[in-house]
Amino acid sequence: MKKRLFGLCILLLTVCAGSAFAEPATVTGSAPGMESVITATITIDNGEITAVELDVSGETSGIGDITGDALAQQVLDAQGAEIDGVSGATVTSDAVRAAVRSSLDAAAGNLGNGLLVPGTYTATAHGAKHDLTAEVDVTENEITDIRVTEANDSPFVSEAAIEKMPARMLEKQSVAVDAVTGATFTSAAIRNAVSDCLMQAGANLSDWSAQETVRQGQDVNVDVLVVGGGTSGLTAALAAKTDAALSDVDSGLNVMIVEANGYAGGNMAICGGYIASYFGTSLNEYTGNSIEADTLVSSLLELYPQYAEVLDGELMLRIAELTDDTLNGLMARGFYLTGSDAYVGESSRISKEGPTAYTSSSVIADPETGERSGDNGYDVYGGGAFFAETLTDIVNQAGVEIRYETRATDLVMDEGACIGVKVQDHETYYTVYAKKIILATGYAGFDQETIAAYLPEAYGNVVGAETAANQSFAQKQITALGGQVNDVHDPISDGHIILGYNTVLAHFGEERKLYNEMNGMLVNPKGLRFTDDSDRGHDTAMKVMEQGGKCYMIFDSTHEGVKYVDYLSENGLAWSAETLEDLADQIHVPAEALISTVGQYNADYEAGVDSVFHTSAKKMAPVEEAPYFAVQINAISTGGIDIAVFTDENMMVTLAKDGQPIENLYACGGAGSGSYFPLCNIGLGSHVVGCMASGVYAGNCVREALINQ
Ligand SMILES: Cc1cc2nc3c(=O)[nH]c(=O)nc-3n(C[C@H](O)[C@H](O)[C@H](O)COP(=O)(O)OP(=O)(O)OC[C@H]3O[C@@H](n4cnc5c(N)ncnc54)[C@H](O)[C@@H]3O)c2cc1C
Repeated sequence: MKKRLFGLCILLLTVCAGSAFAEPATVTGSAPGMESVITATITIDNGEITAVELDVSGETSGIGDITGDALAQQVLDAQGAEIDGVSGATVTSDAVRAAVRSSLDAAAGNLGNGLLVPGTYTATAHGAKHDLTAEVDVTENEITDIRVTEANDSPFVSEAAIEKMPARMLEKQSVAVDAVTGATFTSAAIRNAVSDCLMQAGANLSDWSAQETVRQGQDVNVDVLVVGGGTSGLTAALAAKTDAALSDVDSGLNVMIVEANGYAGGNMAICGGYIASYFGTSLNEYTGNSIEADTLVSSLLELYPQYAEVLDGELMLRIAELTDDTLNGLMARGFYLTGSDAYVGESSRISKEGPTAYTSSSVIADPETGERSGDNGYDVYGGGAFFAETLTDIVNQAGVEIRYETRATDLVMDEGACIGVKVQDHETYYTVYAKKIILATGYAGFDQETIAAYLPEAYGNVVGAETAANQSFAQKQITALGGQVNDVHDPISDGHIILGYNTVLAHFGEERKLYNEMNGMLVNPKGLRFTDDSDRGHDTAMKVMEQGGKCYMIFDSTHEGVKYVDYLSENGLAWSAETLEDLADQIHVPAEALISTVGQYNADYEAGVDSVFHTSAKKMAPVEEAPYFAVQINAISTGGIDIAVFTDENMMVTLAKDGQPIENLYACGGAGSGSYFPLCNIGLGSHVVGCMASGVYAGNCVREALINQ
């Protein structure tokens, strides 16, 4: 295939040289990339490509270092579309090739008659986890139908893309529509499969890549605006719309959620499917275990004396007291949770006396197989998607309007009070004016801006940290207003940093078994082992951070992980070579060091004793038979971290602890968690219940304030 394209480029250049382009000519072509349309502007002089400009500025996937200049140089060097691309950014690299090809087509006057060959076409492309297949019907000049016929990416999350992308492409008659936020890889797969179908029909993709334009939309007025429809945002909106018991009454308030993703639920939609219940629910009845709110809170305050300055015991108690009403209210309305799923777990983050029992619950994640959360580790099939789906239904049924793919960009302030929020969807920007605004945008993220602003030392080496759900909107806005953030993150004891490929492939793919479960030698960028590599948990992830944020798993052709290499290599994460020297060259580690490390490792394996890190020989995998493989494994984070805005006892945002509340502005969930974080930090299930209850508390405060006004 590559050879054919190269041949095509030579042909085009020959055509250009001999015909209309003896004079220098500049031509443009475009193709949809991961998150934007990529444009290639190429100057051809005397049959040679003399200048290339690539606009890849919209590609911010955070997976690779994508720079237009580097890619443009590759096009110049290759004198065509046959470029290596950027490691870890396959979709973007493919789009650059397509855009260059399309501009060369234009230069050669090789655009055909612009008509499609009518028919039905089928193509397959790789999504976030699995391949996805699309069927496209076309007439001579119109796309008449797009159907996704096979898709197995995360339930609920990917459905948003499957529902919205075909409709959007049909409406715009373009493959260059925006990806559905939060389901970027599934969206890109749909776009790629449809592009492939159009090319089979004889299309020049440039003709089908009209971009969406964002225009001024209609401002709206509501009583309550919740920014972020994740775990806490959904319950905050529900409480504002109903009553303290989340019962079937309508408070009469007009409540709206703006949610950046194409679906609601935030991190709950991709969470492990665990939820804790401390007292007062059918889960506690089932296990016979309870911890009352006041016992729990006083015990947590004793356990965390180092945070006495920031913690607010009174607020924590009010939130803890709401955990039973929150769960009971939701279960009564059909929340995906049943008492008999509960179990008793133990946590050392409840009491200074030592491990303490508490009730948590996994869920049946797949009713057909009876598979439960945890059967596959933290998996998107773990039940979180069902939590998010049923909670979203409940909130919709209560009459809350959710505006999806609508990102808050700025708070609107008036004389120190917050009166609205500027928002943008993929077509319009406008302002939502509200009497009360609740920030429920989640824990601080690991996007590059957040790391630079708040965490340069502790997390400078974290790789692949951007998710739509964690971009620190609340934290950044309050900092911009001159406020302080409440930083209680603890890089040593917290579990946020784990091993992974990047944020998208980390938890979700079958390929994670390589670094989670399979034996193999880990080396750092110097080609040296650095730890007992039988451990693949948080401790090893922290050691990977110390090595610069990444390491390589080295294995040979007999290793079980070979089956994942093709896919990982497409994502710029795997390499292979016939010799260790070549492999070392490819991953840019010193060859001598790698050869010597492998030699020592193999000898130790033979002797049955790891002389360096004491890894059990049973957990080693000697590297002996060529070809050899290296897979890059990073220290990553998929969740978020406890850097929160300050609130008062009514969840109103303050610029500093004990400062004056900002009128109308509230926070809950991870965004406001600093003063009650131990409640969300107990162990499996405590994050979701703590965030839900804090949302209900904020929603109650807002409802009562408005009704009493
Ligand atoms: C992989 C994983 C597994 C987990 N497993 C568990 C578990 O099993 N049990 C448990 O208790 N906890 C678990 N957690 C933690 C739990 O999911 C979170 O603590 C919880 O979801 C946080 O709730 P939140 O409301 O603060 O934020 P989120 O649920 O993250 O919601 C924030 C929302 O705000 C939206 N948003 C952000 N910025 C903007 C903006 N500018 N404009 C509009 N919308 C915006 C986001 O898109 C998102 O929907 C897990 C987390 C992860 C990542």
